[in-house]
Amino acid sequence: MKKIALEEHFVTPDLVGYGEGTKSIAQPKAWAEAGRRLLDFTEERLPEMDAAGLDIEVLSLNSPGIQAEPDPAVATAKAATVNDFLAGVIAENPSRFSGFCALALQDPEGAADELERSVKQLGLRGGLINAHTQGKYLDHPDFTVLWERAQDLDVPLYLHPANGVDTAHVLSGHPELQGPMWSWGLDTSTHALRLIFSGVFDRFPNAKLLLGHMGEALPYVLWRLDSRWDFHNHHGIELDLGYPSHYLRRNLYITTSGVASSAPLLCALLALGADHILFGTDYPFESMQVACDFIENAPISEADREKICFRNAESLLHLDSLVGSRR
Ligand code: MN
Repeated sequence: MKKIALEEHFVTPDLVGYGEGTKSIAQPKAWAEAGRRLLDFTEERLPEMDAAGLDIEVLSLNSPGIQAEPDPAVATAKAATVNDFLAGVIAENPSRFSGFCALALQDPEGAADELERSVKQLGLRGGLINAHTQGKYLDHPDFTVLWERAQDLDVPLYLHPANGVDTAHVLSGHPELQGPMWSWGLDTSTHALRLIFSGVFDRFPNAKLLLGHMGEALPYVLWRLDSRWDFHNHHGIELDLGYPSHYLRRNLYITTSGVASSAPLLCALLALGADHILFGTDYPFESMQVACDFIENAPISEADREKICFRNAESLLHLDSLVGSRR
């Protein structure tokens, strides 16, 4: 079956340094191998895509990317450069690659302009954001301009994990819990909930948020979120839709990136529905082959498999005009 994968990372030699902060998370051999693969598009990546049966990769700059740059002007310049570069990579293999732009959120107005330029002039399909930007989350009022532009352009914002601003006390003394195995998911799901409770999706009802890793566990807790919202002190918050799950079912789209397991997939299907789940591998940190074999063999209907593998991506990312070479 045709497959479009949405969480597929790359880096450029100029931007490798921003990833140094996450180096200690990985085993040295795994880090070195991922580092090599992140820089490559055609030598290893395309043959692996062919072998795994992956038609299109929607590429994104590896976490934390230029959001880790303290100087807003430098970040803005590097975002434009890497987005131009990505457009060039896609132009060389337009039937195999698409992309999400990088955004220098250190300058929210500039980031909104760069999102528009990336979509309208470079043909990129949305923006991928790595967690906080210098301590600011996407519910900060400064980012209203970004949500407004994303909604107007009808493109999704993909919220991807990165190291937190600080370390939660419960993680202290346990560096093994910090990173993609555990703490990144909590950080990212919490970030998504901040958007709901701060009213971002009330102000921008058509905004589309993408989360990887099968929804960062949110599909599993939908019912409890609503149940406990009835119990909690609302602190003056009024949700237009009444309950948190209503936003997660409307504004949230998730990918299967980094989760090749049927139990959470079936949970996500029941919780969010097949129209809100898209395929992803999390290359090069996970195996394309394992991810593709998983989705091909998952115990779901063929209609749902088609939606997850490519139909939802074609629709959400307006990819209908692209035809995968293996179709
Ligand atoms: Mn990833």
